[in-house]
Amino acid sequence: MINVIPISAFQDNYIWIIKNSESDGVAIVDPGDAAPVIDYFTTSKLHPVAILITHHHRDHVGGIEQLTSKYTIPVYGPSSENISGITHPLNEGDTLLLDKLNVKFDILEVPGHTLGHIAYYGHKKLFIGDTLFMSGCGRLFEGTPKQMYQSLNKITNLPEDTEIFCAHEYTLANLCFARAVEPDNKDIVARVEHCSQLRKKNLPTVPGTIGEEKKTNPFLRVNEPEVINSAENYAGHTLSNNVDIFASIRKWKDNF
Ligand code: ZN
Ligand code: FE
Repeated sequence: MINVIPISAFQDNYIWIIKNSESDGVAIVDPGDAAPVIDYFTTSKLHPVAILITHHHRDHVGGIEQLTSKYTIPVYGPSSENISGITHPLNEGDTLLLDKLNVKFDILEVPGHTLGHIAYYGHKKLFIGDTLFMSGCGRLFEGTPKQMYQSLNKITNLPEDTEIFCAHEYTLANLCFARAVEPDNKDIVARVEHCSQLRKKNLPTVPGTIGEEKKTNPFLRVNEPEVINSAENYAGHTLSNNVDIFASIRKWKDNF
């Protein structure tokens, strides 16, 4: 059985540890900081066998150097981003088999937040970095709205019960925005309630499922009349296609 364990880093990052109950070897996803990861391994029986990177931002790659000087392990990551320490570059359609862990991931290219951003999909789990957050999506630092829209579509084509592991605890702030976009969406209201309870206990609101996201994430709901209406109100004119509706919502969120 595959388990995923969060390690908190910085203000609101999650470094994910992927574990198979058959093995003591684990994979580390997006170690932006080495210190909490090293702490984790000094107090557990587990040991790292691989590092998986989604994109080049410092809060995702900052721990690679220190971790690989301490542990001799491969580092997987996007082929088209300049990330020092990557030993195994990956592209869309590649399959990553971690045999020490007995896990297998398909690689998806999901440009938008950065141009080379990749995601790891397998065992009904998706490690998505900063492309999608619970009820939100990443900022467009490098890509166009069209690229991000297509990346999000690729994600929503996966099975509804796929668990999404994103790299930041942004859920409550995202839900606050989602409620502004869709004031009448009862699923959003219910999720605010549920996630507030979790955060009061200092528990992560991640992962969520693709099914939940489809109901509560405005960036995945650009076909909904209420979302279209809100996007047009923000833009100040009629929007004729999904990409423009997405772009309007994204711009609104940037200024929210
Ligand atoms: Zn990022
Ligand atoms: Fe990040």
